[in-house]
Amino acid sequence: MSASAPTSNDIAHQALDTLRTALPPQRPLGLHEPEFGERERALVLDCLDSGWVSSAGPQVERFEHLLCEHTGMAHAVAVVNGTAALHLGLQLAGVRPGDEVLLPALTFVGTANPVVHCGAVPHFVDCEADSLGVDPAALERHLDAIVEWRGDTCHNRHSGRPLRALLVVHVLGHVADMDALAAIAERYRLALIEDAAEALGSRRDGRHAGSWGQLAALSFNGNKILTTGGGGALLTDDAELAARARHLSTTAKQPHPWAFEHDAVAFNYRLPNLNAALGCAQLEQLQQRLTAKRRLYERYARAFADLAGAQLHPEPPGCHSNHWLPLLLLPNREARDALLEAASAEGIGLRPFWTPLHRLPMFTDCPHAPLPVTEDLFARGVCLPGSARLGAA
Ligand SMILES: *Cc1c(COP(=O)(O)O)cnc(C)c1O
Repeated sequence: MSASAPTSNDIAHQALDTLRTALPPQRPLGLHEPEFGERERALVLDCLDSGWVSSAGPQVERFEHLLCEHTGMAHAVAVVNGTAALHLGLQLAGVRPGDEVLLPALTFVGTANPVVHCGAVPHFVDCEADSLGVDPAALERHLDAIVEWRGDTCHNRHSGRPLRALLVVHVLGHVADMDALAAIAERYRLALIEDAAEALGSRRDGRHAGSWGQLAALSFNGNKILTTGGGGALLTDDAELAARARHLSTTAKQPHPWAFEHDAVAFNYRLPNLNAALGCAQLEQLQQRLTAKRRLYERYARAFADLAGAQLHPEPPGCHSNHWLPLLLLPNREARDALLEAASAEGIGLRPFWTPLHRLPMFTDCPHAPLPVTEDLFARGVCLPGSARLGAA
């Protein structure tokens, strides 16, 4: 009598057993938890004592300076969250009402919302299985099929709208194939913007995430590799764009010792000093955190190496990822759901990918390319706990 093939349920339970061997016994265990120490306490208390708590103060400048040091970018503008950074970045890149912006369907909803806040229409494209980012070959095939040039701007021939920008996302901390994507953006005259919200500390071919586009956004939300409570930043090498971002994030107020003169309808998006203080203390630990997260990823890789039914998604070629959230791929959706269910019942915070954006009610009418890889990754992917402390030596 031959043994029957393992069921989805068997595979899910083998995966959960394997996870238990890689994780400490503490429950509940969150997906990605914030970590604070004495340094955070000291810098935040300094703000309270000095009275510099709002959107001006020495920690904001120091935070921006440290961000430039860590990323190698010339300018960083700290703002209230990653969504605000993208909103400002899209506007500065020239996205206007009635435009279309190309972006992946497999991302957090915070990538698409600011496109709509600009009055533009998201146009969803597929990702590739190895980097999880926008697939350059599939994007090019799609553009060839839909583009119509009018003067020097390419339009979507079906909607008639101009295709203005390509918004690439570095999913789970892996850097997308930016050399190829930058070449496509240039060929089709698209502004190139990077959503690097999940990718602080990630590099590809030695370059930091966010260094290919005209502008890039970071997030310091509570579940990211570093947190400021809420926070974000725009990165750019363009001094003029940085100055414009700073101006528009502070109500476009003209510098003056006492007068209120404003020269544009702008935003109140600047990061408060209190949050920046938290960020400075967190950035001082970025290297240790990256090391610990890599150690955790390697522990998962060893644990899952011999399990036939589930594979740990490998680091993409050329990438040195921050391993924000390690990704486990199950054979099918039934196995994925069985694992999510069983882990949740015992207090391990696993999560599926975000529901692909073209399926959310507010985006169902938006144009999209064929999305086979997006659908497959969504059906089979499970994000594993990624807090740095889990990988501490
Ligand atoms: C977190 C995140 C955002 C939004 O950042 P917030 O700071 O929460 O506004 C945008 N895009 C991606 C890919 C994210 O992971």
